[in-house]
Amino acid sequence: MTLEDRLLNDWFLTIELSTGCNLKCPTCPQNAANNNLEVMDESLLFDILNGISRDRIKFTSLTPFFRGEPFYNTNFIEYLKLINSFNRDISFFEFMTIHSNGQFINDNTGKKLFELMAKNGYGELIVSLDSSSDELYQKIRPGGDFNCSVNNLKQLINTYKAYSGIITLGIQFVEHKENSDDFPKFLKFWTGILNNNNLPFELIAENEKIMKNVPGIYIVRKPAGEFEQKSTIQSTSIKINHLGCHKAWVSPVIGVKGEITFCCADYNFEMINSNKTYFIQDFDYSIKSFWYSKPMQKIRNAFKAGNFPKKCDTCIEMGLSLENKYEDQ
Ligand code: SF4
Repeated sequence: MTLEDRLLNDWFLTIELSTGCNLKCPTCPQNAANNNLEVMDESLLFDILNGISRDRIKFTSLTPFFRGEPFYNTNFIEYLKLINSFNRDISFFEFMTIHSNGQFINDNTGKKLFELMAKNGYGELIVSLDSSSDELYQKIRPGGDFNCSVNNLKQLINTYKAYSGIITLGIQFVEHKENSDDFPKFLKFWTGILNNNNLPFELIAENEKIMKNVPGIYIVRKPAGEFEQKSTIQSTSIKINHLGCHKAWVSPVIGVKGEITFCCADYNFEMINSNKTYFIQDFDYSIKSFWYSKPMQKIRNAFKAGNFPKKCDTCIEMGLSLENKYEDQ
């Protein structure tokens, strides 16, 4: 099997169940775009799930959010239940991965979420706090309540005990220039709480281990602005040998209205064609039809030839993921 075939058989689905966020983080691209809450029509979600059922396709993971905070949608858990009911019947993904600012995950929500994730066999929840004090939190995550997130996370840690060995919980510190000195305090605080709870944990520099779905508690340190950094690996040979960015092979993304893309930074759904947004409705709700469509083949061919959209120039994904994930297999 060629690398290209292998990639096409190891894919990760994103369905954006809602947009919008309760916070106004200055570095977030969501802030530059529309930050209003829009929730996917339940009928659209049904059609997408029915399309997956018809296609008989299977994904490694499902990410049920794209732009914004997933729990800002008060029906988020109900939508996950619907997705889980399909997964029980047709087993279309292996695990679910969710990132959150933790403001809305109270004890009750946390229990429901872990229970749902455990029904799939495995799940990941990453909560980003990024600071050890309210003062700093307000600079990085304006609009949020630091103590609320800390208390919710403490409750989650308690709830986690019943799910260790099945669920991954990430306590994340995204490093910005404002908080670059704060990580030792952050680490000390959460290390103390985990030790008091007799919970083993691991400190990781980025979420690679989480992506390898090894259950556990991780304190995750991650650099911010991954789409603003200049990638350090951008030689022509890497672009050609490694198909450039692997996203065009592995990660279909469906937006809240059915818009489709493959790129996690394509918040305006214009990467495939800057003059036209494609919708899953155009492909009769078939992700498979979209994935093997002419526009997608065209963009993969462009990537293989070393022609990338401008956005890729500053994206850390370029070359790195393929290097790490596939090169040595
Ligand atoms: S390299 Fe380009 S296509 Fe890949 S994730 Fe980054 S912006 Fe998207």
